[in-house]
Amino acid sequence: MLHSSYIELNKSALINNVHFIKTLLPSTTQLSAVVKGNAYGHGIESYIPIAEEAGINHFSVYKIDEALRVFKTLKNKATILIMGFIDLDEMTWAIENEIEFFVYDDLRLLKSIEIAKKIGKKAIVHLEIETGLNRTGYQHKNINRLSTIIEDNKKFLNVKGICSHLAGAESISNYLRIKNQISSFYKSVKAFEKKGISFEQKHLACSAAIINYPKTKLDLVRVGIMQYGLWSSKETLMCYSSKYKATTDPLKRVISWKSKIANIKEVKSREFVGYGTTFMAEGSMKIALIPVGYSDGYSRSLSNQGRVLVNGVRASVVGIINMNSIMIDITLIPDVKIGDEVVLIGNQDEMDVSIASFSELSNLLNYELLTRIPSEIPRYIKE
Ligand SMILES: *Cc1c(COP(=O)(O)O)cnc(C)c1O
Repeated sequence: MLHSSYIELNKSALINNVHFIKTLLPSTTQLSAVVKGNAYGHGIESYIPIAEEAGINHFSVYKIDEALRVFKTLKNKATILIMGFIDLDEMTWAIENEIEFFVYDDLRLLKSIEIAKKIGKKAIVHLEIETGLNRTGYQHKNINRLSTIIEDNKKFLNVKGICSHLAGAESISNYLRIKNQISSFYKSVKAFEKKGISFEQKHLACSAAIINYPKTKLDLVRVGIMQYGLWSSKETLMCYSSKYKATTDPLKRVISWKSKIANIKEVKSREFVGYGTTFMAEGSMKIALIPVGYSDGYSRSLSNQGRVLVNGVRASVVGIINMNSIMIDITLIPDVKIGDEVVLIGNQDEMDVSIASFSELSNLLNYELLTRIPSEIPRYIKE
């Protein structure tokens, strides 16, 4: 083991999740796997091949470097969609390689037309419409002007999609705001249609929306967190369970994160463990060191709080999380040896450390916790 920890990606869990998500979609709705943030920490280069095996042929990313990594990794023909930032200098590569991208301002729209003219290849774009997230997106008032630009540049521009992003579909407290976004989106689509412009793909939905707002399952859905086997929020799981009368969780976590015991030491009663005085042994203890710390994405706020698995038993983190290591209490766990497997996320026998439990303790969302796992940690596929 060159690195002090490793990630395992469970292929059959992914196949299960993709299959499940597809059962929620009408047959005319295409599934795009969102793989921004290094495939939510799973690792683009490791994740894409198993996603392809699971039948995914559409990938959405945030930026061009992610698009390039997906492009290089793909074995089969698939669509790549950039949902966020694309620098003008990089646009030529995208258009040449039929990478699709969101446009939300004239700068990028006009530039894509200019490049398309120059290289003799149509730019394939999705118009992002402002519906209330107030992040990026064209305002409704631009529609007349946009229609003219689109009409005049048909030879250079394939306006394949129209889309928007919802401002928190995972939480019921945003209900009204989301409903308003959905109607605002339809208003814009209608306004374009009046001008004689229609779109091959209308899309709005993320993971939470396909459960909480089923009407947003249009021509395409952009699903991130659910394919990795996690729910956007507890509310979303509850909404699913009640709507579909489900009693078990249909999703399976794809990622596990493992390391090894690197050192074992006896500590006498009333001695402190680690930096400072946050943990004092109340009796004689056995402490093990795991060579993973906050520089590996193991949040410092799990100090004296985190749980890991050793020999199928839960063990507590004691003391402050260091940059490269944590200490755990193995006093009551028999037969622990240097080199034994430690599970930071995942399961051992019947015991489980979930990302949700982990992220609640450290006040990190599933999303943030996953994407903080460094890309250098090696990823392996579990068949
Ligand atoms: C991240 C993202 C998604 C996917 O969100 P999930 O909640 O992970 O499904 C969809 N659309 C856009 C524009 C995004 O940025």
